[in-house]
Amino acid sequence: MKKLMAANWKMYKTQDEAKNTIKDLINILGTELTVDRDVLICPPYTSLKVVAEEIKDINYMYLGGQNFYPAKEGAYTGEISPHMLLDVGCSYALVGHSERRHIFCEKDELLKEKVKYGLEVGLNIIFCIGEKIEQRRAGQVDQVLKSQLSVLKDINNMSGIEDRLVIAYEPVWAIGTGEVAGEKEIFEAHKIVRDELKNIYGEVGNSIRILYGGSVKPDNASDIIGIDNVDGVLVGGASLHADSFSKIVTA
Ligand code: PEP
Repeated sequence: MKKLMAANWKMYKTQDEAKNTIKDLINILGTELTVDRDVLICPPYTSLKVVAEEIKDINYMYLGGQNFYPAKEGAYTGEISPHMLLDVGCSYALVGHSERRHIFCEKDELLKEKVKYGLEVGLNIIFCIGEKIEQRRAGQVDQVLKSQLSVLKDINNMSGIEDRLVIAYEPVWAIGTGEVAGEKEIFEAHKIVRDELKNIYGEVGNSIRILYGGSVKPDNASDIIGIDNVDGVLVGGASLHADSFSKIVTA
């Protein structure tokens, strides 16, 4: 399975900063990648267009939104539609990032609508899941991940889902903290996710990519992507600089 190396720029970078970062990244990585990987960049909405322009001839790079509202258009002040993301050149979008779940209180019902609607209108979806530290300490990782994945049970009749849906396992306590999950923790969590995907999708569940996210850095990326069932990474902080993200992409 081709690994997906995804950058989440969160609420960072003006248009000029985004343009400079993506140019630097392409300068370092080249127009052809030496490794067989997909690279996804998720800038803030205001920089989607400038990044789209820079990557349009780079065949290993994709553009993604960090969020959307599940409707074509309407009176939803402050929101953006998947159609608008597609229109600006996105092929992917994140759904359910832990900052959306915990700061903006997005619940499973809404996340289910987003995954379903986003896939229906043509976006590839990276559905983010992960436990909080108190849930891990209480031995609830299995239960939490299965419950978060249960929103997919109603979205199991789409052909080609294995190419369109990606899961990102991001333990909340490892995001932006510098505290990366251990190899055993990642292995076990990804195994739970893989088994649950097979429960929901049958054999196809074997071909759905599962990313790890949470304090991935150039010095731990290679070990992480070598773990069973880790099909790529979702990177926040270390994706903001071309130098560090390029090392992760080629790790
Ligand atoms: C993220 O934003 O999804 C993330 C994993 O952030 P960081 O790499 O900074 O932990």
